[in-house]
Amino acid sequence: MSETKLSCACGQVTVEAIDNAPCAFSAICHCADCRSITGAPFFWANGWPSDQIKVTGETISHVHIQNIRHSCAKCGSFMFEPVPGFGITMLPAARLNNPTPPMMHVFVKSKVYQLPEDGLPRFDEMPPMG
Ligand SMILES: [Zn+2]
Ligand SMILES: [Zn+2]
Repeated sequence: MSETKLSCACGQVTVEAIDNAPCAFSAICHCADCRSITGAPFFWANGWPSDQIKVTGETISHVHIQNIRHSCAKCGSFMFEPVPGFGITMLPAARLNNPTPPMMHVFVKSKVYQLPEDGLPRFDEMPPMG
């Protein structure tokens, strides 16, 4: 079993990284989409290749701008979001049992809250991947 795992607030849905695959991407996103779904001033995302993510439990989904976002069907916790253009699935890092520290800030141009300087690179949008 994987050690990298998260559960929703009610425990009905779990998401895990298959074979404890390493996190491929970690960023703090300031975009309007992330703020909309989390209700928070920014979203800390940990991403894995989409084929390395296993979901257990019943989820509901909705299309938001261009991505499909999945939440627990019972408690509504936002659980995961595949990003087709990058081939990775974003998970809410703050709910993971072992989150990977952020590597960068992205979509800083959309920020509503200015985090203090933390030494991480800051990008107006998404930097080129790979
Ligand atoms: Zn739930
Ligand atoms: Zn975002």
